[in-house]
Amino acid sequence: MQHAAHIEDTDFLVVGCGPAGGIAAREAARGGVETLVLERDPVVGAKRVCAAGLRAGFCETFDLPRSIIHCDTPVIAMHDIEGTRYELQIACGHTSTREELDGTIGRSARDAGAEIRTSSLFRSAKSEGQTILVEYADLMSGARRLVRARRVFLAQGSSVRIDPSDSLGYPAWNAGLVTCYQYRVYLERPATASTYQTLEMHYYVGTKGRNVIAWVFPKRDHLAIGLGIAAKVPGSELRSELDAFMCNTAPRLFPNTAYTLREEGNLLYGGAPRPRLIDGNVCVGGTAAGLVDATTGEGIHEAAMSGRFAAEAAVRGDLHLYERLVKSTFYGRLRQRYTLMTFLERKPGRFRLFFEQLVREPRLTALLQHERNDFSFGEWMYLYMQVLRFGLRAWT
Ligand SMILES: Cc1cc2nc3c(=O)[nH]c(=O)nc-3n(C[C@H](O)[C@H](O)[C@H](O)COP(=O)(O)OP(=O)(O)OC[C@H]3O[C@@H](n4cnc5c(N)ncnc54)[C@H](O)[C@@H]3O)c2cc1C
Repeated sequence: MQHAAHIEDTDFLVVGCGPAGGIAAREAARGGVETLVLERDPVVGAKRVCAAGLRAGFCETFDLPRSIIHCDTPVIAMHDIEGTRYELQIACGHTSTREELDGTIGRSARDAGAEIRTSSLFRSAKSEGQTILVEYADLMSGARRLVRARRVFLAQGSSVRIDPSDSLGYPAWNAGLVTCYQYRVYLERPATASTYQTLEMHYYVGTKGRNVIAWVFPKRDHLAIGLGIAAKVPGSELRSELDAFMCNTAPRLFPNTAYTLREEGNLLYGGAPRPRLIDGNVCVGGTAAGLVDATTGEGIHEAAMSGRFAAEAAVRGDLHLYERLVKSTFYGRLRQRYTLMTFLERKPGRFRLFFEQLVREPRLTALLQHERNDFSFGEWMYLYMQVLRFGLRAWT
């Protein structure tokens, strides 16, 4: 006689314990919703490869301790394809590591009453009337497990697999993936003082004629130096591209200093956001929803905020609220960023024109930091004038 598989029940099931899943779990649990998180890694945050640059006020916005901050970075320095540097006036950013960020969010989710099951690999979610049947693999025992949930939040990051023919699918998803490689550089002596106060971004054409975005983000005990290319690129090619970048960067930031390296690679998403975010009682958030700024690769704030919106929707029992909040908050800006990045990368010389304009127009830089596109009439007029001016310079 065959026994039916045991099925657990929960209210809110979250897949992935990055910033999106962790904040969703914490805030849903705080709102009194029974919450279970499935995380495939054995330790929350330990395997995340990321530069972990955080925007101003991140800890305050998400109720996290300041102790996770490594460096305050009042300067953001953009570099064009010639290597010319442009320092922009924006609010002071911060850096951390994902071990600390995700680990701290995960602990606060547990403290709030959410259950986080690590080494648990999500496999599928199937609608069964008003509930969702979720299957996952317990990676410790190899067993297949089933959970029935009233609502599901998918937050697996760039590794999410959603069939393009699925209602949440997005045929352009794979074209938006960016392969990244990063060194954690442990120096024997500290780098120059300004290195620890600056987020550096570099936009250039790499050795094989491909557009490259590279960064130097300072941490307490190391520098995160990495790059991304919007194509599927083998690790060996990425590494030699990164070595070339290091050759240019090291003498400037840490001259005559010995160092050791830890290498890490990951996928980033740099396309437009996913058109649909909910299907019945399943919703998708964070990078899995494409909530990443295509011009910088930043998505931690967007991920955490989408987790907050998902929790609010779970508490109120209305996932349509989730889609409305995410779209009204992020879609205008993220779609514009994607369009802008596509335009700049088509002729990489345009980065220079763009950065020159940002340096000359602090008001434009400030407006571009806005979360939502709820500008006044005067601000819209100003923005259109700036776009027109940039367009004329870029096309001539
Ligand atoms: C190299 C690099 C540098 C970056 N630098 C920055 C930066 O400086 N600032 C910034 O704001 N953003 C940065 N980003 C983007 C940022 O990492 C993402 O936007 C952010 O991590 C998205 O959070 P998330 O919770 O949506 O997904 P993730 O952080 O990717 O978390 C997804 C979680 O889901 C888990 N998971 C995946 N599949 C499964 C499964 N099948 N079952 C169970 N669990 C699963 C993963 O283990 C992971 O813990 C960078 C990205 C990369 C790749």
